[in-house]
Amino acid sequence: MKVCKFGGSSVANAEQVTKIVDIVLADPERRIVVVSAPGKRNKADTKVTDLLIACAEQALSDKDYEDTLSAIVERYAEIQRELKLPAGITAEIEKDLRLRLAGDKSHRGIFMDCMKAAGEDNSAKLVAQAFQARGTQAVYLDPRDAGMFLTSDFGNAQLLEESYQFLEKTLNNREEIVIFPGFFGYTKDGKVATFPRGGSDITGSILAAAVKADVYENFTDVDSVYPVDPRLVPDVKAGIPVMTYREMRELSYAGFGVFHDEAVIPAVKAGVPINVRNTNRPQEPGTLIVQSRNVLAGSVVGIASDDGFCNIFVDKYMMNREIGFGRHLLQILEWEGVSYEHMPSGIDNVSVVIRDKNFDPACEKRVVERIKRDLKPDAVLVERGYALVMVVGEGLYYTVGMASKATQALSEAGVNIEMMNQGSSEISMMFGVKAEQRAMAVQALYKAFFLK
Ligand code: ASP
Repeated sequence: MKVCKFGGSSVANAEQVTKIVDIVLADPERRIVVVSAPGKRNKADTKVTDLLIACAEQALSDKDYEDTLSAIVERYAEIQRELKLPAGITAEIEKDLRLRLAGDKSHRGIFMDCMKAAGEDNSAKLVAQAFQARGTQAVYLDPRDAGMFLTSDFGNAQLLEESYQFLEKTLNNREEIVIFPGFFGYTKDGKVATFPRGGSDITGSILAAAVKADVYENFTDVDSVYPVDPRLVPDVKAGIPVMTYREMRELSYAGFGVFHDEAVIPAVKAGVPINVRNTNRPQEPGTLIVQSRNVLAGSVVGIASDDGFCNIFVDKYMMNREIGFGRHLLQILEWEGVSYEHMPSGIDNVSVVIRDKNFDPACEKRVVERIKRDLKPDAVLVERGYALVMVVGEGLYYTVGMASKATQALSEAGVNIEMMNQGSSEISMMFGVKAEQRAMAVQALYKAFFLK
């Protein structure tokens, strides 16, 4: 059995929805279909999820949201009209949105998640009708009825492990093709909770793991995963035919937008291969992500980068002798609920890299004051505007001289390396650079590892 997930661009309009139906019907093994909310139809367009967030914000601040609401309803109505589906579905979608908007607003996160989830929920209902209109036995399945239970971290929820047994029961051996909304589930007390943004990938992976699918097909709008972001290196042509789960997770964590980093884990645990494919060119084999592959020494699979990082630099003479220093430093972040990304260190200093978005100025002030008070450092400095660039490949582990190849390429390009860290797994090297040097760094590394 195959579980297929279709991203926002694959449900953006009627033409794309028709492609979904064609792709699924072309292979009888495709039994479970996860869909995102309608995404952008063109570069200037707005995703339905972003419209829903805007609408929720307006409702929360008592502003008029009618125009935004009409724009959302119209996105679905356009698909319904073009596919000649019964008009009742559009009326139902509007009713559903109004009901959500009239809901309790006392908890911002709960209200917001309920609104955000409407994007995928209504998308799945509409896509189910598109299948039915083609004479296919297909049903929309509510994540609540399927047993998709999540933690109460609204906007950042995680699966409760017990869900697997419920999902397996409801999804296996069904006569109909199941159309399942991505991105959200329910807390144990019945509230809607969403995964982080882009989280429909996670839903697909969970379902694939629950039914022990032969493959999890993740349909998007590129032929394969590319070794480098084509926006930074436009002449990159060849995609990656096969890579390991670990490589994908490292790359997607560091900015590879094609696949959500958290979505790798359920598939790994269940040993389900992931196949990233193109809805617009389903004849292409795409990229296969598997447990292990033949690795050529020195081969790098990809170069990822992301900006929006900051660095807390702490310096203290004889830090290396002070037992518990690192733990205490991380404890301060834990008290503030800030997760950290990397922690490169020297004898007398340590850096903690965190995402800017998790570290607003008020939080920064509290953390710095606490570090000064509790750890008595010689210096503590917060610097913003960092980018991380990661060179990833199982081949790094076996090969001498990979770091020097990378640093030489960066120095020849005039990129100043602010930080370096080799993951303990030894399948990635991380370089911290100033955000304005990010593109240069990626281009230099691509040239060094892929063109020479
Ligand atoms: N619609 C959600 C988002 O835009 C989830 C997804 O598409 O995966 O983040």
